[in-house]
Amino acid sequence: MKSAIIYVRVSTTGQADRGTEKSQIEGCQRKAKELGYEVPPEWLFRETWTGADFERPLLSEARQLIREKRADALIVYSTDRLARNPLHVGLIAEECDKAACQLVIVTEPDDSSPEGQLIRYVRGWGGQFERLKISERTQRGKRFLARHGQITSGGKAPYGYNVVHTTVDGRKKISWVINPKEAEIIKRMFELIGNHGYTIYRVALEFNQQEIPAPRSQKWSESIIRTYLSNTAYCGELYLFKYKAIEPKKPQAGMRRIKKSSQVLRDKSEWILIPNGAPPIISRELYDKAHKQLEINSRKASRNRIHNQYLFSGGILRCGICGHAMTSGYQIRRATGQEYRIYRCASNCHSPIYHRCTMSVINADDVENAVWNELAQSLKKREIIKQGISNFRETNNLSKIETEIVLKQKQLDGFKQERVVYLRQLGKGLIDETTWVKEARRCDTRIDSLQHDIDDMRRRIETLKQQALHYDHLENTLDDLAYTVEHAETFEQKRRALVMINLNAVLTQDHVVKLNGIVPDKVQQTGALLLI
Ligand SMILES: [Zn+2]
Repeated sequence: MKSAIIYVRVSTTGQADRGTEKSQIEGCQRKAKELGYEVPPEWLFRETWTGADFERPLLSEARQLIREKRADALIVYSTDRLARNPLHVGLIAEECDKAACQLVIVTEPDDSSPEGQLIRYVRGWGGQFERLKISERTQRGKRFLARHGQITSGGKAPYGYNVVHTTVDGRKKISWVINPKEAEIIKRMFELIGNHGYTIYRVALEFNQQEIPAPRSQKWSESIIRTYLSNTAYCGELYLFKYKAIEPKKPQAGMRRIKKSSQVLRDKSEWILIPNGAPPIISRELYDKAHKQLEINSRKASRNRIHNQYLFSGGILRCGICGHAMTSGYQIRRATGQEYRIYRCASNCHSPIYHRCTMSVINADDVENAVWNELAQSLKKREIIKQGISNFRETNNLSKIETEIVLKQKQLDGFKQERVVYLRQLGKGLIDETTWVKEARRCDTRIDSLQHDIDDMRRRIETLKQQALHYDHLENTLDDLAYTVEHAETFEQKRRALVMINLNAVLTQDHVVKLNGIVPDKVQQTGALLLI
């Protein structure tokens, strides 16, 4: 007997979907019987996943079976169960055709004629259009309500407010009212900074010391406070549609549904101000005052940091995404409320709320220890380094390249002369014009190509000279250096060693540190190290 796969899909685990799942299975099984297919129990695939995604675990399994030519038919209830995107439907249909597997769609005429295929495509498109329309309708509806001064996101109000649902003239209305306890904390936050010159860090520290309950039963962190400080709703200016949901740039590994779980700020022209949307907790004056103080703090902080003990201050560690220096700072651990040292990309620390560079913050102890250990390890292999340097000198013999340049220059001059000879012959009428053009062209091509080679080699010599200087210096100081690194204990000693080495480290997006400027590539066997 021929065997078939049944694939059913629902979008959610809700009651209504359970019903449609049952009717899908029944419909498919009836069809299988009718067409004389047997469905092994493990070939009944029941998936709960959005049809907008093409990568679905069970669908992939089913497609694998089809590609392996193990199934004679794939039975689905309708095209939109298979995929919302007609291109995806088309792709699966093609896979079936290739594997001589019949694609059976229960609710459609079993027709592999072009018309039947068209129906499949069109139905797929229909589903997609409908989805688009729904999402547009609700977006538009929300915007419409917002323009008429209504709060449209019913789920949550920011810290400091409670959501109240009421019915006015038969229509549901959402409003925010002040939560007195939380509002008191918000007010204190702004006052401590605006009136008393606190830093965000100090506010977080003090709140945690006083055991003031933080939202979501966490500890107060700088990032939470920063977010609150940037919310103009607290001074009575509530904007909606400030953010747009996007898919995260770094979705987690494995096959999973990618949600639009990240947010980006929209252009200010798209924001919608809701008059009287949020009752003010603080005055606009205090809001501005606090923000002015934050600016002063950040300027001060960058001055103070110079005196702090950060091994990589002064641009030794760079961001691998945007190339800016990683600058030093503090953060507070959410779980314990304790402070720890970090490095963050300079391009995302000036703006307290919106990160321009996506490089995440890295723990300073982790990266410093890892780099230091790596250095100590590399310098222990002093003999290998010396060998590497002499290898470099042998393989990159400058005089060899210089001799080659002289040789090529001679050839080049030869072609230039040849060209002149032909020109003279043309002038004397010894050769005709066609021959002249042909020969001149040949010479020109050779001249160009030789000149190009010579330029290349000259550039190479310059680079090699630079490198050679570096290696000379390294060789002379290697023993000193190794001694310094080995015996460095205090911050100052370590720092001096780094300057001697002329270390230059680049942090990649995945928190891999690449070290440059210590030893030649060939001998630096562990040039990169991984930190998680
Ligand atoms: Zn960066």
